[in-house]
Amino acid sequence: MREPRPFCLGGRWKTSTSTIPVINPYTREEVARVCTGSADDLFMAAGHAAAAFRITKTLPTYIRRQILHTIAALLEERREELVDALIAEGGKVRKIADGEVTRAIETITISAEEASRITGTIIPLDRTPGGAGHTGHLIRVPAGPLLAITPFNYPLNLACHKIGPAIAIGASFLLKPATATPLSSLILAEIILAAGYPPEAVSVIPAPGSVADAIVGDERFAYLSFTGSPDVGWELKKRAGKKKVSLELGGNAAVIICRDADLRYAASRIIAGGFVNAGQNCVSVQRVLIHHEVYEEMTAGIISELRALKIGDPRDPTTDLGPMISEEAAAVAEEMIRSAGARVIAGGIREGALLHPTVLADVDPSLPIACREIFAPVILLSPYRKEDEAFSIVNASEYGLQAGIFTDSLETVQRAFSALDVGAILVNDIPTFRVDEMPYGGVKGSGTGREGPAYAIAGMTVEKMLVINKR
Ligand code: NAD
Repeated sequence: MREPRPFCLGGRWKTSTSTIPVINPYTREEVARVCTGSADDLFMAAGHAAAAFRITKTLPTYIRRQILHTIAALLEERREELVDALIAEGGKVRKIADGEVTRAIETITISAEEASRITGTIIPLDRTPGGAGHTGHLIRVPAGPLLAITPFNYPLNLACHKIGPAIAIGASFLLKPATATPLSSLILAEIILAAGYPPEAVSVIPAPGSVADAIVGDERFAYLSFTGSPDVGWELKKRAGKKKVSLELGGNAAVIICRDADLRYAASRIIAGGFVNAGQNCVSVQRVLIHHEVYEEMTAGIISELRALKIGDPRDPTTDLGPMISEEAAAVAEEMIRSAGARVIAGGIREGALLHPTVLADVDPSLPIACREIFAPVILLSPYRKEDEAFSIVNASEYGLQAGIFTDSLETVQRAFSALDVGAILVNDIPTFRVDEMPYGGVKGSGTGREGPAYAIAGMTVEKMLVINKR
């Protein structure tokens, strides 16, 4: 039997008797076994993070930047191994897995650049007689150790979105990856240690949510950065105590296709946004709202693009759509489709964890399937008559991550920008668009705070004032 992989506790590799299998959702094989941390291990990690913070917060900028550049270089060096891990643990198709490694390198490189941009302000303080002779120096310092909790769908890049900014500011951390996809995070821990970040500052411990729950209230962490489902995220925020909290949660993203849209281009983008990573994206295209005059033509365009998708083995470099994270998750989505009360015009078929790309047509936007996050390769088409009606449908959601609109009318873009309650509006693109430097995050049920290294750094730091009396 294969040796279970240890986890990283304060820079040391530790085994435990409790282990979990990592299952390839396509082949259903056990690809690895991973030791999981107990609540005690997580509390010990908090102790290490608190002790190491005294060191990390004094590291000079050039060292932090150098370490991040070394991490980026090592990610590149271990690209193939990371790609294989992402395919094996999450069933991610090869081209998306390779793209995730590229993005992780970019996220870490941008974090290195941002480390150099953390500056301060000098404030004269003599606007009133009482301040005469005094000067203020306002600088940003790390708030304290970081508790990072990540989901299964982009386990490497989403970890880098938390760890990159943490190293950029000089914070110690505990990363708790999703139990389904811990392998890429454990490789990342090896890389961070090899790059020379103080070992005690580094803990990466897979543990079930039920075990990790206990650490969320630990006051030794100053910042909780959570990416995952809305129900879990909002619950954890209640228990986070005095910590600063960022929540990157889910949604049921919408795209609006106006009458003047380039329909062929929009169809190809919708296919990419609805089905990439088997629809397991927080900003996956879920609701497609189409002007009624172009509804038939747009629907035909989407179906024709969908037919070109290659479905199947994620290891094959030409596969576009592979399995979902597990057979159970695919079965839940299949049942949602079956009981949706809408017309299935493509897909709806499941083979194990592989759910065929599915399109539901003429969907009433108030149906339960349209109101919740499906998180599967499923898109819902609904016609609308006036743009204001489409804006209301988008806003009727309890979520608000990103929305897309396809139009060349500046007037419509301006109306959409002022009407839609979302974190970002993409013009002539899908809500799924994200580059890693972007400020990224949602409103309403989709979360609070922003990621993208510069914005995460703003969240993870606090302002500190030095006042000097020039006697
Ligand atoms: P999840 O909420 O089930 O799990 C996320 C993480 O939280 C995992 O590590 C899990 O073990 C942990 N967790 C669960 N319960 C916990 C508890 N009580 N205490 C501490 N930790 C706990 O989410 P998932 O299924 O892994 O990921 C899918 C969700 O993530 C979707 O809703 C998706 O939209 C969202 N997501 C959001 C973004 C974003 O940037 N906004 C990005 C990716 C995924």
